Amino acid sequence: MSITLDQVTKRYQGAPVVNDVSLEIGDGEFFVLLGPSGSGKSTLLRAIAGLTGVDHGRIALHGRDVTHTAARERGVGLVFQNYALFRHMTVADNIEFALRVRRVKRAERVQRRKELLRLVALEGMDERLPAQLSGGQQQRVAVARALAHKPEVLLLDEPFGALDAKIREELRRTIRQVQRELGITTVLVTHDQEEAFALADRIGVMNLGRLLEVGRPDELYKRPATRFVATFLGAANLLLARQSKDGIHFGNHAVNARAVEGSVSGREHEVVAVLRPEEIELAPTREALTSSYLAAGTVEELVFTGALERLRVRLTNGSAEVQLAKSNGDGEYLEVTRTQHEQRAFEVQRGQHVAIGVRRIHVLPTPLSSFTACAASDAEVEHLSRQPLLVELAARMKTRVATRVEPALANGSRDCSSRSGKFVGAAVVAAQPDSLKDIECLLARGAEEVFVLPPNAPPPQRVLIHWADEAAKSATLAVSASLLRHLSAEAIYVDVMPQGTAESQRPHGMRALLDARSEAQAVHGLEMRTELRVGNVSTELVRQLGESVDPLLILGISQINGLAHRFADLLASTPRWPMLIVYREPEVQA
Ligand code: ADP
Ligand code: MG
Repeated sequence: MSITLDQVTKRYQGAPVVNDVSLEIGDGEFFVLLGPSGSGKSTLLRAIAGLTGVDHGRIALHGRDVTHTAARERGVGLVFQNYALFRHMTVADNIEFALRVRRVKRAERVQRRKELLRLVALEGMDERLPAQLSGGQQQRVAVARALAHKPEVLLLDEPFGALDAKIREELRRTIRQVQRELGITTVLVTHDQEEAFALADRIGVMNLGRLLEVGRPDELYKRPATRFVATFLGAANLLLARQSKDGIHFGNHAVNARAVEGSVSGREHEVVAVLRPEEIELAPTREALTSSYLAAGTVEELVFTGALERLRVRLTNGSAEVQLAKSNGDGEYLEVTRTQHEQRAFEVQRGQHVAIGVRRIHVLPTPLSSFTACAASDAEVEHLSRQPLLVELAARMKTRVATRVEPALANGSRDCSSRSGKFVGAAVVAAQPDSLKDIECLLARGAEEVFVLPPNAPPPQRVLIHWADEAAKSATLAVSASLLRHLSAEAIYVDVMPQGTAESQRPHGMRALLDARSEAQAVHGLEMRTELRVGNVSTELVRQLGESVDPLLILGISQINGLAHRFADLLASTPRWPMLIVYREPEVQA
């Protein structure tokens, strides 16, 4: 491996701006870190370069741990967006600067400079001053200068930022050529998806300090694992659907299984489906579609963009079986793009009624599809669904908060015996003295996740993860990963060994922690720290929560009975912290 990052964390004013990032970049790979502004890309790049220290984790370059090595000794070359050249120095002196510092002989310096200028296609420009060069040419000099001392790793931070489109494309090509010719491991930071696609062998997508997904550009585009990546890499319509053994259902009708890709399991539950605009087909009638029917709609907007036609198609009321995960602001419409070929086959106009088909659907593996606020009365449900943390989470997750009046939640008159089986998404209840009863009731009625929310809870800064039953482990990790992708909080898995555990059992506990950590990483893309405590589970969790600033607890269980006894300290009184209970019944072996 050329670059190895192991749980790298960097905090500013206590808040992690790079959050537990682990990553391996191979020799000669062109790796692009992609993410919105403020997602921590530059900070991570600076940490690799040694321009900033890290608060946690390790960095290795070519197998050598450089976590505490000075920037100059790391063997990296750097190019920044505004890495101004030395204005008063010629191109030649700029490029040779790093060589002079390293006391390289003149003849060798000159030779190296000539090589580099050829490489970046600036031969003969040696004696120019930066002011006599265009912006694109200056960045080429910056690249040559970064490569002068033969670094083993080239780091580029938005190097095309200030240039106009045409020059940017030229420079892109040069950088790709130089990189191939030298075979140098390269990490480039950008917020521009097109740039990432054009350059990368692999892309790592960052958001809120976390590295969300890593993969080849086409893989990430076709099979994103998260809502964020699905919508950040190109346009995507997100729809809520119901998954069952026989496929994906939008309301009452199933979409042809051939069109569905992604995590299709037997368990019946709500899922988030990704529909790319180019995978949607329009036809005059349902019968005329060549793909699987989705809904009826009306063309609301139509923009010709040359090669493609972009449309907004509003879903016709009544075909409202189809539910957008989040309505696109001003209503429920789908984004559609059509090629010239499709346009010729079926011309449409604004206001036209069309049948909507879908060629391919990708189902996200996320277990947290949406939220349903539950309370005993309309007024309480209304109030709960407007809780800032819930609203914020739903917005970040691009999903909705549904409401559900559950008379069984009213004090005293609990009838939780009937299993409704129709809970969709995570159930949300307000924290109150009787929360334990609410939790038990909703779980008994079929909810799989219950989110207990104290009034005006702030966005969590630290998320503690614990599963009390092994059978709930995978689901708890999956839910944790799903939630944490939308928070900039730190994730800590807390395991508690019973009081009196023999010293000789400690290594087992440590091994279980490491197993949990690697499963989280390998299966769910979740990076978390681990802590091993000894004592009573409930007491230890309460202690840890109490010691944390704005914590949230994710608690996995596979038994409803005995919650009061097992989590006495945690659930006996009004919960003080937001808590997400993940409940999965143990699988019955047939
Ligand atoms: P990106 O390159 O993805 O736009 P940065 O790594 O530059 O993101 O910044 C990530 C976050 O860290 C931002 O919120 C930024 O304000 C903060 N940040 C970066 N550098 C510092 C610093 N030196 N002091 C305090 N906050 C910083
Ligand atoms: Mg930046």
